[in-house]
Amino acid sequence: MTQIETPVETPAADSPTVPYLGVPPTPVVFSRPFRSRRELENLGTVLNSDHVHGDGAFTASATAKVKAITGATDALLTTSCTHALEMASILLDLKPGDEVVIPSFTFSSAAAAIVSRGAVPVFVDIDEAHGNVDVGQLAEAIGPKTKALSVVHYGGVAAEMDDILSIAKEAGLPVIEDNAHGLGGTYRGRSLGTMGTFGTQSFHDTKNVHCGEGGAILVNDPGMMERAEIVREKGTDRSRFLRGQVDKYTWNDQGSSYLLSELNAAVLDSQLEQFEEIQALRHHIWDTYAAELGDWADQQRVRLMSVPDDRDHTAHLFYLSMPTHDDQVELIAHLRAQGISAPFHYVPLDSSPAGQKFGRTLRPLPVTESFSRRLVRLPLWAGLSDEQLERVVDGVTSFRALG
Ligand SMILES: *Cc1c(COP(=O)(O)O)cnc(C)c1O
Repeated sequence: MTQIETPVETPAADSPTVPYLGVPPTPVVFSRPFRSRRELENLGTVLNSDHVHGDGAFTASATAKVKAITGATDALLTTSCTHALEMASILLDLKPGDEVVIPSFTFSSAAAAIVSRGAVPVFVDIDEAHGNVDVGQLAEAIGPKTKALSVVHYGGVAAEMDDILSIAKEAGLPVIEDNAHGLGGTYRGRSLGTMGTFGTQSFHDTKNVHCGEGGAILVNDPGMMERAEIVREKGTDRSRFLRGQVDKYTWNDQGSSYLLSELNAAVLDSQLEQFEEIQALRHHIWDTYAAELGDWADQQRVRLMSVPDDRDHTAHLFYLSMPTHDDQVELIAHLRAQGISAPFHYVPLDSSPAGQKFGRTLRPLPVTESFSRRLVRLPLWAGLSDEQLERVVDGVTSFRALG
């Protein structure tokens, strides 16, 4: 999420919201990649073997774990979530002039994957309650050129999937679930990433489980799996060849090299082994924020991230929705002055330079704009100590919102 997390400016020393602290405190970083127990050992195993390229034993093992966590029937590890999204665009045969409806408040890769085929992202607004797509606008934006719907489960809290799936069904459209935040999350008992035609996962080092850079595509339409393997293997049927299903492999289709190296898979497998532990640590932090910040939030007219009862979130992030944009800027500065890194999040894609060039909207998207300009995310990573957690809580509750 690097390119749109614009660094926040250090506040001026005479800013009234910045207390003078004397000795600079040790920083509380926003995110830190998890270190898993077996990753170094696994890397050694790969390096000492004759199989360092993709689709070896660790890929098989990590893929099985991803399937077990999500309940997906078919999954393929990829070099990134961005590439999983690109694979979805190829598999859906998106062509120049086709349209895909997508919320403006999401990560740029989901839109870039549409544009990579010459198709047009049609940006719609979000629902303030959870930052996910506004389903009314999603339905309204469907037109004769629409070829797919693309949604994200923001912060690992499910979008309104029953509505989305019924809209998609009625229009005969596939759904792409960008589940980069939502590994292990659920919606009305169903696993995130398994309800649409495709679900895409990220194992970037800012995500709950990582291997530096990596991803996966959950292929939920069994009829798509054979072609998905080909697209991932440079357009060749090498996967079938390796399984002995064909006696030579050849170039069959569009594609690229979307498969993960065994080195990355070795780290990923080790991380996935500790998935429950990572999630427990993250939920402890999330729950502490929710419990400790409630009174302050009520007094200050701040809205804390909340999760509807019919879905389980993944503790990927915890955000505060401030009353005003000024409150956002000042809280970020207030925390920064105490060595706490608490950034905002997506800049609306419809107003970004590429969004303006390649995409369109039906109308202005005021909720996206406002949500984006009031949101502050707090440090959340497996390994954040209770002492650091307390510092963040104290830092936040010592701030008075202006709104
Ligand atoms: C991180 C992220 C991506 C991109 O993931 P990569 O694995 O870095 O390509 C896509 N969508 C969302 C919502 C993300 O948070």
